[in-house]
Amino acid sequence: MQISESKRLFAHAKNFIPGGVNSPVRAFRAVGGEPLFIKKADGAFLYDEDGNAFIELINSWGPMILGHNHPMIREAVIKAMENGTSFGAPTAKEVEIAELITKMVPSVEKVRMVNSGTEATMSAIRVARGFTGRDKFIKMEGHYHGHGDSFLISAGSGAITMGNPDSPGVTVGTAKDTLLAPYNSLEAIEKLVEANKGEIAALILEPVPGNMGLALPNPGYLEGLREICTREGIVLIFDEVMTGFRLAPGGAQELFGVTPDMTTLGKIIGGGMPVGAYGGKKEIMEFVSPAGPVYQAGTLSGNPIAMAAGLTMLRFLNENPQTYAELNLIGRKISEGIAKINHDLNLNYTVNHLGSMYSLFFTSNPVIDFESAKTSNTVLFGKYFQAMLKRGIYLAPSQFESLFLSTALTEDLIQKILGAHKESMVEIH
Ligand code: PLP
Repeated sequence: MQISESKRLFAHAKNFIPGGVNSPVRAFRAVGGEPLFIKKADGAFLYDEDGNAFIELINSWGPMILGHNHPMIREAVIKAMENGTSFGAPTAKEVEIAELITKMVPSVEKVRMVNSGTEATMSAIRVARGFTGRDKFIKMEGHYHGHGDSFLISAGSGAITMGNPDSPGVTVGTAKDTLLAPYNSLEAIEKLVEANKGEIAALILEPVPGNMGLALPNPGYLEGLREICTREGIVLIFDEVMTGFRLAPGGAQELFGVTPDMTTLGKIIGGGMPVGAYGGKKEIMEFVSPAGPVYQAGTLSGNPIAMAAGLTMLRFLNENPQTYAELNLIGRKISEGIAKINHDLNLNYTVNHLGSMYSLFFTSNPVIDFESAKTSNTVLFGKYFQAMLKRGIYLAPSQFESLFLSTALTEDLIQKILGAHKESMVEIH
């Protein structure tokens, strides 16, 4: 595999961009080697600047659930562009997408569009604080809610991958209002609630975390959180930036039948354009300016091109619910195939899987929280990543990420992925 153009671009990029990339994990730091610079993507494939093709299992970190460059989304974007790229004024499409979101995710009675998942979570916490008149909130260790200051405390995803889950630059004053708990422990939440009685505005979590690699909620865990939050007047926020419109049309909350007070969304909601959203109960969302006193705004929020892409994506998913059965089957074939190959090779590694998300952890421990995720052998993961890449399979360049599958993965491609997995496991052991 020739990668001279990517190498040249990376060396050049480092002169002008910190670390040569616009988001840290892209630099391949955790897996060794240098990043590939991508020229185009189509269906299940990424094509780099040297003309190499890769079957890819990240899908732009989640949004491209129907594969890349889908004709339906492309046409919607081109059509929207004919009318101009930004107005900074209300549009009909914003109303349509808001109405559709409230239909697909019924706990969201009112919704505000923003430009990223980070903006969605930052805003949701501010609104929860405004609504309750309380300052503190609970966050789970190893969960990632974007790069807002108050979330960069024991953060997963790129933060743990780059070795700084507690980022310098976050003040002690900010950090003191973020209370940490291990995922999947109701007991820990009860203790925090007891020690901070009447002071906790919100509890935010990824209901099915993907940012420490994929982990699943213990039976009764999400229900238990719901009960505690209702009892204590704490706003329960499900961060469904990853899981929204992916695990089911209504996200993890639909799949597990647990209703949060607020929800944050991103990724799929923009169809590949920069979009996020937060919403929830009417009485809470009525606190958002200009309906209420909590300020939140955005020059490009509700951008017409982004709304055209997002609306097209959501309409398709809403009108074609069989897409989820297709995705689940693809997820099952790949994750069960991987687990079987590992078993046949006498390799005891944990594979967590739900719908079209999965993670292979290089540990034999069950992965149920941040501590267990961190028992993974990240050096071995790096070798696996490179072995797969050499065979034309592009994975997330970190152990602490979920993979995201798309409907573009045909049977033939699934068999190629499993073949590459077997060869790679043999090579690295
Ligand atoms: N919340 C979750 C659960 C995420 O996975 C992410 C990003 O991966 C974010 C929030 C932040 O979203 P963004 O990167 O669009 O700011």
